[in-house]
Amino acid sequence: LSPRAGHPQESLKLLHGSLFDVKCSEFFCKYFERNNYTDPIVPALAIPTEEDPTTNEAIAARELDIADENVDLPELTIRHLPRCPSCKKGLLRPGVVWFGEMLPKDVLQDIETWMGEEDHIDLIMVIGTSAKVYPAAGYVDIARERGARVAVINIDRSDAPSSGMYKGDWFFEGDAAQILPELLKDVTGELKEEQMKDLAEGRT
Ligand SMILES: [Zn+2]
Repeated sequence: LSPRAGHPQESLKLLHGSLFDVKCSEFFCKYFERNNYTDPIVPALAIPTEEDPTTNEAIAARELDIADENVDLPELTIRHLPRCPSCKKGLLRPGVVWFGEMLPKDVLQDIETWMGEEDHIDLIMVIGTSAKVYPAAGYVDIARERGARVAVINIDRSDAPSSGMYKGDWFFEGDAAQILPELLKDVTGELKEEQMKDLAEGRT
């Protein structure tokens, strides 16, 4: 959401990459595309939609809930998947860190340097994360050592930082899309109703 909201690229440190970066699955191919918002990236990966029983035409607005195990998914083969336009061999994949892959070293280094250089950190906001997975979970402790108070915004009470909550910390239980605009009202101004709706639906 941050790049789409116009946050300066150089001050965003994406530890797990971005879903909107596209790269090649072939190890030696360097194909890379930034901010590709094409959705679906190939027609076969479109979310199935509910069909109107009278016309059998797909109703574009009504996507089926593919998290529901009773919803049938179309059968896909490898030829339905997007192919790398550069090497024509690999498949295209999102530029995110998948399970078992290394975190980007340069990003880790940047964060470490930045946190090391600050004499005093006022506040660290921990939003929508279990705050249990290192190295990012450790940033809470580093910030705390430099004087930071911790504000956690999460729908799940049990998702507190692993070092626990301290006196003076805040836990805001609920949907970040509703709580953040309220918390940051003095900085961002009051959001209009349609902006709130976009936020809640992840469109901003
Ligand atoms: Zn390639």
